[in-house]
Amino acid sequence: MSKQDEVPYKIYLAEHEAPTAWYNMRADMKQKPAPILNPGTGKPVTPEELGHVFCDELVKQELDNDTAWFPIPDEIRKFYRMFRPSPLVRAYFLEKALGTPAKIYYKFEGSNTSGSHKLNSAVAQAYYAKAQGLKGVTTETGAGQWGTALSMACAFFGLDCRVYMVKCSYEQKPFRREVMRTYGASVTPSPSMETEIGRKINAEHPGTTGSLGCAISEAVEKAVTTEGYRYVLGSVLAQVLLHQSIIGLEAKTAMDKYGVKPDVIIGCAGGGSNLGGLISPFMGEKLRGEKDYRFIAVEPASCPSLTRGRYAYDFCDTGRVCPLQKMYTLGHDFIPSANHAGGLRYHGMSASLSELYAQGLMEARAVEQTSVFAAAQQFARTEGILPAPESSHAIRAAIDEALRCKAEGKEETILFGLTGTGYFDMVAYQKFNDHEMSDYVPTDAELEASFAKLPKIG
Ligand SMILES: *Cc1c(COP(=O)(O)O)cnc(C)c1O
Repeated sequence: MSKQDEVPYKIYLAEHEAPTAWYNMRADMKQKPAPILNPGTGKPVTPEELGHVFCDELVKQELDNDTAWFPIPDEIRKFYRMFRPSPLVRAYFLEKALGTPAKIYYKFEGSNTSGSHKLNSAVAQAYYAKAQGLKGVTTETGAGQWGTALSMACAFFGLDCRVYMVKCSYEQKPFRREVMRTYGASVTPSPSMETEIGRKINAEHPGTTGSLGCAISEAVEKAVTTEGYRYVLGSVLAQVLLHQSIIGLEAKTAMDKYGVKPDVIIGCAGGGSNLGGLISPFMGEKLRGEKDYRFIAVEPASCPSLTRGRYAYDFCDTGRVCPLQKMYTLGHDFIPSANHAGGLRYHGMSASLSELYAQGLMEARAVEQTSVFAAAQQFARTEGILPAPESSHAIRAAIDEALRCKAEGKEETILFGLTGTGYFDMVAYQKFNDHEMSDYVPTDAELEASFAKLPKIG
């Protein structure tokens, strides 16, 4: 029944075919993710406590494990029309280059100015902040994609946007910084001297170039100490996976149109938002016992939270100001080796994905960055798009699965998430092109030292 041979190179959905509600995968999970805890009391956080940090509507979404569908507000759907539905591409050229009988599809999220899927959640979070009558939001950004997406969304809704950018990225990626400023955001290198936690980190680690966890702590502190501001986060949280379900819903609608069912669904995993969003409707079918799929999370070997982390309660940030979440973690103090250029450097993982992985409903694998950039190069040369290093983790695994199909003579269908473009990552590409890129895999002893600092819960 499959019409695989008639599938066009790009499958576009019409506006009227776009999803009108986000799907909450947690509603179909029998074993729900563990509750978020207040580090002070060790008890589940209350909506009131979370309401000091996050917007009210987002708190509701965060704590709701039961509602399956959340209607997408009209204004958000209107904004989505600027860059959605995003194309689903049949990678005919890559298939040919690999000589594989596998059919490869990718959902491309890089066609907006922020260059990644992060805009899907940024616009939702800015909308709810505006609807609540807030003046502005604070956030952190590492590589800069989230900060860019949020500054675009805030410009649209007329909200102030304050971004704490990890210092090494602030210095190495001046162009990202200027994109954010063009959209009206103020960008501060982190750790800064503007917050208590920033001053403390600077005093304890003079000359530090910062980390994502540290920037999160600064952004949270700024939000809770500034009238009319809340904090927003671009990954990890359940609300972000909810918004990102738009990726999977569109992909599924497009594939259904051609009677195509993927066998393997692959995504890169930093905090888990694009992967969680892409797999959502498919995982829903698997959880309800309707259909079966293989899901693969791909992470860097230098920051292997799923494949080598502990499933335990940990802080979401280095500064230990955020609540505790049960997740696969390398420890809140873990910072990947300085030679790591490929993104996806967060120490933890979405609680929902962690629980699905713990239950054996999803697989994970870690890949080394030189092999990731080799896959990026092969993809750029065949499919034309210059992929983000993060996205290239998924490309690596998709190519490896397609080569497995070739070796086994199997015609499987592979779907992967191409989360963004890599134009701002040319320093990393330069290292690869100059053969100066190396791989670093943390030792067991290094990880043990980090696990020793996990908070003791229960
Ligand atoms: C942020 C980002 C990721 C990783 O974040 P997730 O929350 O794990 O999806 C992947 N790809 C790109 C292009 C990104 O900007």
